[in-house]
Order: sequence, then C-alpha cells, then structure tokens
Amino acid sequence: MIIAIDGPAAAGKGTLARRLAEHFGLEMLDTGLLYRAVGLKTVRDGADPGDAQAAVRAARSLSSTDLEDVALRSEEAAAAASKVGSIAAVRDVMLDFQRSFARTQPGAVIDGRDIGTEVCPDADVKIFVTARSEVRAHRRLKELRARGVDAIHGRVLQDMKERDARDAERDVAPLKPAEDAFVIDTGDMDADAVFAAALDFITSRNRSG
Ligand code: C5P
Repeated sequence: MIIAIDGPAAAGKGTLARRLAEHFGLEMLDTGLLYRAVGLKTVRDGADPGDAQAAVRAARSLSSTDLEDVALRSEEAAAAASKVGSIAAVRDVMLDFQRSFARTQPGAVIDGRDIGTEVCPDADVKIFVTARSEVRAHRRLKELRARGVDAIHGRVLQDMKERDARDAERDVAPLKPAEDAFVIDTGDMDADAVFAAALDFITSRNRSG
C-alpha cells in the first residue's frame, strides 16, 4: 500500500505519516528533508538556492549523511528548500529516488507537497492536510522554542506565508490537493483526532474497494 500525504508547512503531515507508517508497518519518507538537504548543500557550496545549475549539482551529489544534518530543521533550510524546489531540473533528480522508495515492500507512507499529484499519482490513499496559517505558525513557533530556538510569531508567520505562496504558485509541481485526495483541516484537531480521521477514511476505502 502506498499512502501519499501532502499539505503546507506545519499542517501535521509528519506526525500523521509516522503514525500511519507504524500502524500499517510501512516504510516512511519525508520528502521535505530531501529538498531541505539540497537547499542547504547549495548554500554551503556558496551558491544561491535559486541558481539552477548549482542546485542540480547539489541534488545529484546528495548522500545519506546529508540527510542527517541537524541544520536541516532550521527555517533557513526550509526557505532554501522552497527555492530549489521551484526548479524543475531539481525535481526531476528527486523524482527517481522518491518513486523507487515508493516501491519498497510492503509499502510506504510518503509526505511532501506533490506526492499525490506528481510523484505517486496512483497511490492507494491520498490525504491532504491543511490548517489556517496562524495555527500552523503557532505550532511551528512551539516546535522551534522547544528546540531552544529564539523565534517570534510574526516572523515565523511571515516566513511561512512566503514559503506557502512560493510552493503553491510555482509552475512545476505546485502544492495542491490531488482531485481524489481526502482533505483534513487539522486546525481544531489534535494529533489523535487527525490519525483517527485518516484511519477511518483508509478503512472505509479498503472496505468499498
Ligand atoms: O515539508 P517541509 O516543510 O520540510 O518542506 C520544505 C520545503 O521543501 C517546502 O516548503 C517545499 O518548498 C519543498 N518541498 C517540495 N516538494 C516536496 C517536499 C518539500 O517542493 N515533495
């Protein structure tokens, strides 16, 4: 079974993906981490993350150790990720890896922005999680502060809105729900309720299919 989970930043994709992967015994891939690693590598190579040649070079030379860097969780890495993610040639390099991961047995939960629309359009289950930007910024702020990062709400909200706009408005693989995605607005729900709603959807689908 392949489960595709998409949605904007801090909508709850990662938590839901982890819980579904555990529940069904599936492998899990956070594709945001791949784009963050490419963004960070491009910047560390001394280039601008909007520089297509440099970003493609970084994408091609990505190794598993690049995915373990704690700096990947920073807001700088997120912004760089969103810039390299707008480059079609970078997305092409990422596509093969993501699709071969999707073929892992017995299946995979993959989260990102374009999993249900571009990476795995034939996924068995597609879920799109979303929430108001204020709610998502508040969650991200809590996460950052829990990690000891000094952040302010207004700045986090502004960065998030810029990143969401760039992700949703780009020409290539823009952030949007697949036509057959189950949309969950997680704004007024806790992680347990989101998991329960997703599970309900998957079980009712499996029963009817
Ligand atoms: O999911 P996360 O917030 O870690 O993603 C960071 C950025 O990477 C996103 O804002 C987006 O620009 C990019 N991304 C993408 N496609 C994906 C996953 C992430 O363009 N499948």
